[in-house]
Amino acid sequence: MGWRMYEADSLDDLRGILGDCTRCQLCRSRANVVFGSGNPEARLMFVGEGPGRAEDAQGLPFVGPAGKLLDEMLTSIGLRRQDVYIANVVKCRPPGNRDPLPVEIETCSPFLEQQIKLIKPEIVCELGRVAASLMMDRQIQITKVHGQRFIGPGYYNVPVFHPAAALRAASNLDLLKQDFQSLKKYLEEEQAPPEPPEAEPEQMGLF
Ligand code: SF4
Repeated sequence: MGWRMYEADSLDDLRGILGDCTRCQLCRSRANVVFGSGNPEARLMFVGEGPGRAEDAQGLPFVGPAGKLLDEMLTSIGLRRQDVYIANVVKCRPPGNRDPLPVEIETCSPFLEQQIKLIKPEIVCELGRVAASLMMDRQIQITKVHGQRFIGPGYYNVPVFHPAAALRAASNLDLLKQDFQSLKKYLEEEQAPPEPPEAEPEQMGLF
């Protein structure tokens, strides 16, 4: 698929490679690059679409109202922020919180790919349609697949509603709560993650 890889030995190395990134146009309107944060050896990793206003201002993922809800969901299954890792598909805020453009996703997602390779989570939980569609390499309707576990390349994908969507509709919030209970069950099952793909350079792109 022609993804450019950024090989790094650690998340710190990768953050250094990302630097004060100007690889796509989102650099022009951002305040801060939001690399991601959490446990570098997390069993459970969350992937959102991109930073919002609060995240852009603070340089941290999911720190606004949606982040507060994410914290509540984590607490409901006995986890804390420091137990998981949270990152986004694009590391800079799209203006007006629009969806990231395909070229922006293509440019930035190799960094997410490397984060996943370094963290080696058992489960990647996609928060919302954009992240789920990228990670599962097809157009995803969250309403149809949320909370289900799908085999990915070396981990399971579990797409759920974006917390912001859950804040907008009580019905989505109920489903998000249920899906976090499913995440808890999946983690408790300790089912071995699927095998990663063979290291063939032209197929290394996860997305
Ligand atoms: S979105 Fe990603 S590729 Fe684009 S400027 Fe930000 S860090 Fe760089």
